[in-house]
Amino acid sequence: MKKLEQVLEDWEAVIGLEIHAELTTLETKMFCSCKLEFGAEPNTHTCPVCLCLPGALPVPNKAAIESIVLAGLATNCDIEKRSMFYRKNYMYPDMAKNFQTTQGPVAFCMRGHLDLDVDGAAAKERIDLADLKPGEQGAAGTTAANVTRTEDGYVAHVGIERIHMEEDAGKMIHIGGGEGRIAGATHSLVDYNRAGTPLIELVTKPDLRTPEEARLFMQKLRQIYLAIGISDCSMEEGSLRCDGNVSLRRRGSTELGTKTELKNMNSFKNLHDGLAYEICRQAEVLEEGGVIYQETRHWDPSAKRTIVMRVKETADDYRLFPEPDLAPYDLSDEFIEGVRAKLPELPDQKAARFAADFGLSAYDARHLVEHRATADFFDECMALAAAEPGGSKFAKPLANLIINDVAAWLNVHEGVVLADTPLTAARALSLVKLLASDAISSKQAKEVFSVIMDEDADPEAIVEARGMKQVSDTGAIEAVVDEVIAANPDEVARYR
Ligand code: ADP
Ligand code: ZN
Ligand code: MG
Repeated sequence: MKKLEQVLEDWEAVIGLEIHAELTTLETKMFCSCKLEFGAEPNTHTCPVCLCLPGALPVPNKAAIESIVLAGLATNCDIEKRSMFYRKNYMYPDMAKNFQTTQGPVAFCMRGHLDLDVDGAAAKERIDLADLKPGEQGAAGTTAANVTRTEDGYVAHVGIERIHMEEDAGKMIHIGGGEGRIAGATHSLVDYNRAGTPLIELVTKPDLRTPEEARLFMQKLRQIYLAIGISDCSMEEGSLRCDGNVSLRRRGSTELGTKTELKNMNSFKNLHDGLAYEICRQAEVLEEGGVIYQETRHWDPSAKRTIVMRVKETADDYRLFPEPDLAPYDLSDEFIEGVRAKLPELPDQKAARFAADFGLSAYDARHLVEHRATADFFDECMALAAAEPGGSKFAKPLANLIINDVAAWLNVHEGVVLADTPLTAARALSLVKLLASDAISSKQAKEVFSVIMDEDADPEAIVEARGMKQVSDTGAIEAVVDEVIAANPDEVARYR
């Protein structure tokens, strides 16, 4: 198979994502008052409504509707004042009801968008932008029309079709087969605790063009959902899940090709690698004169390939019809404005504030806000720095410390929360002050940082105890230099 870079010379990839997020921060399920709890004893959080026993009637969870409206406002969607719930019928024991309650053509949130900043190596996959100069936009009518060139990459405007409200299914466990697969299993167990968990599904327009863009979109959406606090967005526990749709077309063509849908993209790396593989696979099939079937495929990260799961069903197969037990849902202006008032500062706004208030580059600002913890920590440091004369000069070294050393440390110490480490804002500020006053070199600053983390000590004390203070008095240094030269006449002669 050809490599991705090679394939992208001749083919353009078209990618659309469907991203599910469980509203894990809520107390109860979507249509009943069963408690939401991950990892509870199986089938202990069920009731007549989520098991669909005769006569039980669903009642929508208002807090869940608030969450989806919050998600819509944070992703620039129009909020539909009237929308309905539908039954999506299917026969599978993971849902006792034999249907999933979801939404129809009109969802709570429609027509949104996110702007993606793509820079560095990630930007290189867009070979169609090579001729654009910074500030220039792709020509109208071409597929680069939604892209604006920046100094070190580009910004892509990615459309969001909708975000709709639905509910999660229960969990099936297959026993006796290999790797928990249904194939070869002797029997299956089902746990309905998850059935009825509020779930929102965001569907993008087919506006993404590279696996890197898909990964960045997913990361950005996760940052936003975490900022607005609607989900814990754990890809390992499945509270944030992504399906990737991808098709190919010849460079220059604007028609859509037949797509395949990839499941099991449960990490950013899997999403990227699965799409990259699938693009190469499709190119090979097409170049050999074959056809792409619209099918659902499973990405196997250990075998590094995708395999067919099923040929795609159409919406008609699900017999989607209006839910007779739920009236159309009307949102008042007061409700929508009430939710809008709860919108916190979003990552993009935070980055813009960091750049404007502290003179940081767009790159630094963007990386600081990648995690809420590091962004909050930077804010805390700058609040302390404000008490110092010319405190804003510490912004850049603090940003460097956080983006490089702190981020790398957190990467290695997976699962550790920054707030639980020995690095307080006061210590971070002391460290960059020692650096700014030339008391220590930048190499020593890295050492001091790791000692803070290992020994839970203050930077001044560490520098003192280890005799690290760098001598910045040139007179004193020159005296030492003279002494060394005088003591080594042979070396000096050899050098001359
Ligand atoms: P389906 O009916 O198969 O679910 P949708 O039209 O609902 O398809 O789209 C599902 C996702 O697939 C969306 O994110 C959309 O942007 C994307 N998509 C649709 N058509 C294509 C295509 N030809 N190539 C790539 N992605 C596509
Ligand atoms: Zn219930
Ligand atoms: Mg669809």
